[in-house]
Amino acid sequence: MRTCVALSLALSLLIPGSVPAVADAYHATPKLVVVLVIDQFRGDYLDRYRDDFKTANGFNLFLKKGVHFTDCYYDYANLVTAAGHSTIGTGSYTDGHRIPVNEWWEPGEDGKQRLVTSVSDDRYKLVGIPEGGGAVSPGASPYREAASTLGDELELATQGRAKVFGVSFKDRAAILTSGHATKGAFWTDHDSGAFITSTYWMSDLPAWAKAFNAGDERAKARQAAGVPTGNFYEEVGQKPAAVQYMINFAKELVKNEHLGQNNVTDMLTVSISNTDILGHKVGPDSPRQREMIDAVDVSLNDFFSFLDKQVGLQNVVVALSGDHGVAPTMQAANSAQMPSTAVKSGPFLKAVEAQLEKKWPVKKGDKYVLGGEYPYIQLNQKAFEAAHVSELEAETAAGEAVQEQISNNSDFAVKRSKQALPEGREADSLREPVIFPVAKMRSGEIPDTELGRRILHSYSPYVGWAIWMNFGAFQFPGNEEGATHYSSFAYDRHVPLDFYGAMFVPGTYHDRVAPVDIAATFASILRVNQPSSIEGHVLTQVLRPDTGSGFASHTPNAAQKGSPR
Ligand SMILES: [Zn+2]
Repeated sequence: MRTCVALSLALSLLIPGSVPAVADAYHATPKLVVVLVIDQFRGDYLDRYRDDFKTANGFNLFLKKGVHFTDCYYDYANLVTAAGHSTIGTGSYTDGHRIPVNEWWEPGEDGKQRLVTSVSDDRYKLVGIPEGGGAVSPGASPYREAASTLGDELELATQGRAKVFGVSFKDRAAILTSGHATKGAFWTDHDSGAFITSTYWMSDLPAWAKAFNAGDERAKARQAAGVPTGNFYEEVGQKPAAVQYMINFAKELVKNEHLGQNNVTDMLTVSISNTDILGHKVGPDSPRQREMIDAVDVSLNDFFSFLDKQVGLQNVVVALSGDHGVAPTMQAANSAQMPSTAVKSGPFLKAVEAQLEKKWPVKKGDKYVLGGEYPYIQLNQKAFEAAHVSELEAETAAGEAVQEQISNNSDFAVKRSKQALPEGREADSLREPVIFPVAKMRSGEIPDTELGRRILHSYSPYVGWAIWMNFGAFQFPGNEEGATHYSSFAYDRHVPLDFYGAMFVPGTYHDRVAPVDIAATFASILRVNQPSSIEGHVLTQVLRPDTGSGFASHTPNAAQKGSPR
């Protein structure tokens, strides 16, 4: 066995540009898998800003030397960060991994409803928060993610020898993409910007992470961002300098944990949050977002050039995607004559609550509508049960209340101004929303349509009693300036899907693919089990022919040479 590996390594050294004969996790070929997620990164950005990208190893690594899919769409209808990262990690949708949104209400031990996050876990504490230095509760873990990730399968297949890590500005993005069996996940403390973790993984930060936090990295990022004080996550996080700050931490991780120096394949998930933190404030068409994307290009060039020195890019495979897209701002949609409306969520949900209370008086201090995150509106099961109302009855009534409030055109809707419309036309009103009771999602009573399938893919028991709802196209919760994402519309579901690596046939591909295909394709390349709830398919159209002893030579053949990339 050992001779065989040595021989294949020797051969691969002799033939320049060739792929080692054996491609699987057990022979450390590739040496390192990188899953790169860019938060709120819509599928049109890479082509829209292609002319901006001047670096060799930034986005051009994918666009010029890798695989670029133009038509990657999520096939579910709850387009938010936690669900998107879990979908990429597990290769399954919410009905597989169960993560519905970022935060939701769930009954605590005392039976009272409390807001939890997709990764909060009372059994653990946060590690590494500078102020006071003590461990902080609740900690975080991936326990609500009900499926294995690609990283988990890599750990299982190598009996824990693979080094799998996750890193991001956001906890959920670091944790849910990488998984349960990982050696560590790191994200930022919002106030200070220091990188932290949870006692789920370790009781103390590694020495290199402590040194990073104690060094001048945060001060440098603050200075470059022009934000000397204030909340690091919100204020520095919306500036381009924050991207390089996180990449610098990822580089320290690769170096000090010796990723890609193992006798099995290692894996790192990296999620860049800053496009989302800024994008919510300014929208997808703002020059500030373009500047941010150009900064991501420069930082990725730095990261992949570093990996080339550290591991050798010929030994690395990379997937690039986004956790969700985004809608245009209300103003941008309006100037394109789309009937856009923003809905002030607080007053809207209050009106729905009032209508339900008219039907069934509620116990003092209680309420029927818990709220939560779109596309879900969560309901208070206990309050309805006290009024002897069944789940389907409650959810149907809530859906009717939403319909009625929307057709009443109440003052929670920020509509297009009349001045922006041709003479004689009224400002557009909110269109018919699409609403489904969760009870019907649970029992599968959803129409057999494209949208029906997407809604079924969005089901999670974690939302309890609730309705799934979408406002009309270009209509969303929020205000005139900002932009958001949550819906089943194409602009929220469209993300890039790009690959780099020796086993791929470079080029631009127009097949309809989905981010769930990343885990399926990488599991196939690594020859490990697909994650437990896999929905994705192996993208065989981008893989070089497998000769049985490895992927065919890297040298392009005559037919490929002239083809456009
Ligand atoms: Zn977001």
